[in-house]
Amino acid sequence: MLYVVGLGPGEKEKMSLEAIEVIKKVEVIVGYTTYVRLIKELVGEKEIVSTGMKQEIDRCKKAIEIAKTGKDVAVISSGDAGVYGMAGLILELVSQMDEELAVKVIPGITASIAGAALLGAPLMNDFCHISLSDLMTPWTMIEKRLHAAASADFVICLYNPRSKGRPNHLAKALAIIQQYKSKDTIIGLAKDVGRKKEQAIFTSIGDIDETLVDMTTVVLVGNKETYLSDGRMITPRGYQL
Ligand code: SAH
Repeated sequence: MLYVVGLGPGEKEKMSLEAIEVIKKVEVIVGYTTYVRLIKELVGEKEIVSTGMKQEIDRCKKAIEIAKTGKDVAVISSGDAGVYGMAGLILELVSQMDEELAVKVIPGITASIAGAALLGAPLMNDFCHISLSDLMTPWTMIEKRLHAAASADFVICLYNPRSKGRPNHLAKALAIIQQYKSKDTIIGLAKDVGRKKEQAIFTSIGDIDETLVDMTTVVLVGNKETYLSDGRMITPRGYQL
């Protein structure tokens, strides 16, 4: 059996019981080195196939090869494996194979959901995820999605918001969003959720210091109703109080 397991954002407490059980019972763990480190205590003496970033296809092909020999294998992703993770790639590769291979996807808490809990309750109304990485999606398409989401006043969760190679993507994205949302719109930065350096930062479209944002930050841009109260970011559901 080939499992694709979402580990949650980092700490064991945020893993599902199912994910923990699968990691304990499989014979082989396949994943990016940083994620293998996150679950070190569960992995024990198991066989580990660990590769660096940007080797996703190789990693998944290896996992499939090992699973075809009859071993139980878990491919691990941080957060949820189906949110910019490994689940889709595994299923695409398996669907191209001639022989059958059983695959089970185990859900995990994605960064936006864990980040939202850290910030308060910003996702109480309609929201969407947009990744600012243009490694696999053309920037023109990302811009289209930003226009659509901002014009419909979704709460917007920005993944892969800013990296050394893409230092200006967040600023470019916020410039588009600001065409539709006011500069006072609340932004919550959820940094290193579930990890040692975990931090919640509240700011606004007009005031944001983009240098605080890195690749382990998820950026939550509120809607017109989102407000701050006692250090909590709240998007009203619409109840009459
Ligand atoms: N599969 C992952 C997302 C992978 S894309 C998930 O479901 O969470 C990588 C992006 O996710 C990062 O650039 C960041 O925006 C976000 N992210 C992942 N882990 C995070 C964490 N612990 N804290 C804050 N953001 C995180």
